[in-house]
Amino acid sequence: MSRGDMAKPLLGHGSTEGDPSITPASGRTIGVLGSGDFARSLAIRLVCSGFKVVVGSRNPKRKASLFPSAAEVTFQAEAVKKTDVIFVAVFREHYSTLCDLADVLAGKILVDVSNNTEINHHKESNAEYLASLFPACTVVKGFNVVSAWTLQSGARDGNKQVLICSNSQEAKRTVAEIAQVMGFTPVDMGCMSSACEIENIPLRLLPAWKIPIFLALGLFLCFFTYNLIRQVIHPFIREQKNKFYKIPIEVVNTTLPCVSYVMLSLVYLPGVLAACSQLYYGTKYRRFPDWLDQWLQHRKQIGLLSFFCAALHAVYSLCLPMRRSHRYLLIETAVKQAVEKKMNIWVEEEVWRMEIYISVGIIALGLLSLLAITSLPSIANSLNWREFSFIQSSLGFIALVVSTLHTLTYGWSRAFDENQYKFYLPPTYTLTLLVPCTVIIAKVIFSLPCIRHRLLRIRRGWEKGRYVKFVLPRATGEYSSGETSSNV
Ligand code: NAP
Repeated sequence: MSRGDMAKPLLGHGSTEGDPSITPASGRTIGVLGSGDFARSLAIRLVCSGFKVVVGSRNPKRKASLFPSAAEVTFQAEAVKKTDVIFVAVFREHYSTLCDLADVLAGKILVDVSNNTEINHHKESNAEYLASLFPACTVVKGFNVVSAWTLQSGARDGNKQVLICSNSQEAKRTVAEIAQVMGFTPVDMGCMSSACEIENIPLRLLPAWKIPIFLALGLFLCFFTYNLIRQVIHPFIREQKNKFYKIPIEVVNTTLPCVSYVMLSLVYLPGVLAACSQLYYGTKYRRFPDWLDQWLQHRKQIGLLSFFCAALHAVYSLCLPMRRSHRYLLIETAVKQAVEKKMNIWVEEEVWRMEIYISVGIIALGLLSLLAITSLPSIANSLNWREFSFIQSSLGFIALVVSTLHTLTYGWSRAFDENQYKFYLPPTYTLTLLVPCTVIIAKVIFSLPCIRHRLLRIRRGWEKGRYVKFVLPRATGEYSSGETSSNV
């Protein structure tokens, strides 16, 4: 962003017109203590959003050139005097050096933007610590989940949510209004006791991804070992053939689709188990076991990892003919055929199998891409419930069926070929079919009218116990409510 751009309001005052919940930005002066990366980005964003900004630094002369010309850079005490809302863009370790400002800060709102380097690093949150140092001030925790980079690039190009908490509703509202004018979405996280949780958020490493990643790695390891034994170890032990060159590409490429396919079926399996539980207990109000709850919550990540493995499988497959080993084997086969004077090596069945197998694989990858794209929050938010459920549930199930066809046309009749059982181990594709076929069969059973009807009623609130209770009055012709009759 050029210095000229910095002076221009990004949203303009017109953007808040007509919305009485937003205080006009013009006229309000915001203070920023500190002149580091965060302070600079914050000042730029505040200026762009139409605020007047005064920056408090220990060395204003040296730091002034780093800020937009519209922002005033002065000594800390001077800056604090000019405003009622001050962002403290200073590390926690240096809070105590601000104690000299206690008198001028009294009665003002301090916004604590600080983060820690470790989860639950200190006994009390940074915001609570700041509040203890300045009891005459009102402290609001906020903006720490937004990086300096996001502030500079604008909310259009980064996380839009700003989590805010404070013991003062008034102060929280003031900071929320500032965030809104800056183009962010303030999220009220309640009182100051939530500060610790807010401070831990930027330090969490993919919390929702841990289980799906371990699951994918576990499956990868199992299938990789299985394929390694069949494709490399078996020929080495039984025929003294060196096939170790297959490990980096061929073994990996036969493992990836197994992981992808099984992971895709694991997206739909918990739904099947949940439906079984609801049918068995005749209610939707009974809590699922914790492991099933967890599994249901991780379906999106499992599905995305399935797509990731499928995409890698596609790239690996495209690269197969590029390998030198492939060229050698091709020439070797051609030479053998020339020696044996074989002119026509065309096998019609093999040609058709391959054509169908690749075509179905491409369709499966296309459907998986659609599922992955629509699971992104920005796209998912633009879909209504029916569209989202159609894509994620119906198209997802079709993707599973198409992937099954891909697997079956890949395996073809190999399951019935004795030579394919290396060390008595069946071909890998037969193992991968187990879970997906179970899911598909279960889904087909659930779509039978009698079961579907019962499941639909349960999901609309009907309960087995209540059914019995309501049937009795019906026998005597007494209907106590409309719900009773509809349930019966
Ligand atoms: P920084 O670049 O190191 O800036 C810290 C500033 O604190 C210095 O420029 C300094 O400004 C001021 N300061 C005041 N008293 C100080 C003292 N006694 N010793 C040293 N510095 C003192 O750090 P930053 O990246 O801007 O981060 C500032 C705060 O924002 C931190 O609490 C951080 O956790 C939080 N935060 C940063 C980001 C980010 O992306 N950078 C994101 C979220 C939250 P003067 O020399 O002008 O006084």
